[in-house]
Amino acid sequence: MTAPPAAKKATRRPPDPKCPLRPGEPCTLCQASVTGPQDCGLVYLIMDDPEAREAFNASRRR
Ligand code: SF4
Repeated sequence: MTAPPAAKKATRRPPDPKCPLRPGEPCTLCQASVTGPQDCGLVYLIMDDPEAREAFNASRRR
């Protein structure tokens, strides 16, 4: 027997956004005026610059 739809909704919560720069860790809103990774200037700067992105990826492989 399945739970009624109202009971399922009560246990749901939004997923925690993950920080792309700290894999496995949640976004802690460490940058000023951000609402999450989607408008984080630091994430944008690193991921939009091919050299910075490669340096970041290389640092994760060490
Ligand atoms: S604000 Fe940006 S850098 Fe800080 S934890 Fe969130 S996504 Fe990562």
